[in-house]
Amino acid sequence: MGKEPLVSSMAELKRKQQVKKKSKSCGFESLNLSPNVFRGIKRKGYRVPTPIQRKTMPLILAGIDVVAMARTGSGKTAAFLLPMLEKLKQHLPQSGVRALILSPTRDLALQTLKFTKELGRFTDLRISLLVGGDRMESQFEDLSQNPDIIIATPGRLMHHLSEIDDMSLKTVEYVVFDEADSLFGMGFAEQLHKILTQLSENRQTLLFSATLPSALAEFAKAGLRDPQLVRLDVDTKISPDLKTVFFTLRQEEKYAALIYLIRDHISTDQQTLIFVSTKHHVEFLNVLFREEGIKPSVCYGDMDQDARKIHVSRFRARKTMLLIVTDVAARGIDIPLLDNVINWDFPPKPKIFVHRVGRVARAGRTGTAFSFVTSEDMPYLLDLHLFLSKPVKAAPTEEEVLQDIDGVMNKIDQAFANGETVYGRFPQTVLDLVSDRVREIIDSSAELTSLQKACTNAFRLYTKTKPSPAKESIKRVKDLPCEGLHPIFKNVLEGGELMALAFSERSWSVG
Ligand code: AMP
Repeated sequence: MGKEPLVSSMAELKRKQQVKKKSKSCGFESLNLSPNVFRGIKRKGYRVPTPIQRKTMPLILAGIDVVAMARTGSGKTAAFLLPMLEKLKQHLPQSGVRALILSPTRDLALQTLKFTKELGRFTDLRISLLVGGDRMESQFEDLSQNPDIIIATPGRLMHHLSEIDDMSLKTVEYVVFDEADSLFGMGFAEQLHKILTQLSENRQTLLFSATLPSALAEFAKAGLRDPQLVRLDVDTKISPDLKTVFFTLRQEEKYAALIYLIRDHISTDQQTLIFVSTKHHVEFLNVLFREEGIKPSVCYGDMDQDARKIHVSRFRARKTMLLIVTDVAARGIDIPLLDNVINWDFPPKPKIFVHRVGRVARAGRTGTAFSFVTSEDMPYLLDLHLFLSKPVKAAPTEEEVLQDIDGVMNKIDQAFANGETVYGRFPQTVLDLVSDRVREIIDSSAELTSLQKACTNAFRLYTKTKPSPAKESIKRVKDLPCEGLHPIFKNVLEGGELMALAFSERSWSVG
């Protein structure tokens, strides 16, 4: 019996202990928030702070003005809401409004209101939402309840200020300009200027923006005092030249998807590193590839030193184009710069993802990281994107593509250009075709059949020991729309095959 599962589960244990230690030193715990705020975080299902939260919250809590570059999907909302809740603590009827959050759109304001209520559920703070489209009268009523927090769009806030004689913003201690690039760029300048003149000089000002506008002076108008600029360094963690491709599929479809990628998608002169979770998977894929006439190199934790050397050096000499490894083994070997990484098992921690793709798209080269995502992996996909501060979107469905192919393709191109991730399905027709062949190969090989059993058992242990995703990410998965085919199959879609494919996919999913 190999020792890898034991070793990797002990390594897991160690990692877990480290995570525990870490979460003590740089998790939400280290911010020393009041119990009511902390309970709100736990209830919302956040496990660890996102990078933007980690970087901005200590500064904001210390009372410093902050300009943060962060877009939707980075966890920016909680980054300014949590310190706000901490500072306001509880409802003070006599104090007037103490926090003001300005949003460029009604939708964003509504979303912020929802988050404020959720995160602040263990406080008695009162919130008033002032946005266009709602009746002024009900907002007047809200305002008469002495709110502690106002969440507003600039136009509607100005409207109230001009209608209510004794409405004052002088008591505001905490101002947030959310999506400041839109706020300052949407012709709100005059309204913002007027709002700013009504605020006290002693307030703390925070500005969150996806981009830094060329006219930085625009932001100076927000009246920040010695602001600290916070940007994320994630771009240096994963290469900007790396293409990331996420395929949703079922566990049992991974063999077919992998063989299709290697045979039909990745060019034969490219080198690919394949990450699997256990040594049994390494062995299984090794035999499967050989049956398919492809010789890979392999490397796992307790492999014989000499064998390991031979395998890796053959890969380094480009005599083999595939190297199948476990995370543990990959740490100990010197891997050359590569073209592709395939994440057969989705990395349960964002840092493992970053580590795995570290050899790809470096030194001016391009490269691709393909990842297989089962439904259990979806929350980890969301966690990864929070960590990378990247928005993640479902590929448009075949119906959407059929309705407006050019519009949909433009949108996809735009999403990629913005550095967003689009995840999508593998064509079922392709999977079915290759799956049949794989099944035949496995059934006719006693070695593969027994290795497959070992894989299943080892995978069970692996699943048990891996860290859990944020509860909030598990919740968010439930609201995700159905995804269409992945856009890398776009050439298939653009041809006349689209109709047939859409039809067969649809009839398949109905049937
Ligand atoms: P935002 O960028 O503020 O729009 O947040 C994007 C999504 O990430 C929202 O659904 C948040 O609830 C969620 N989120 C924010 N912070 C965390 C965290 N620390 N852990 C898990 N999910 C989070």
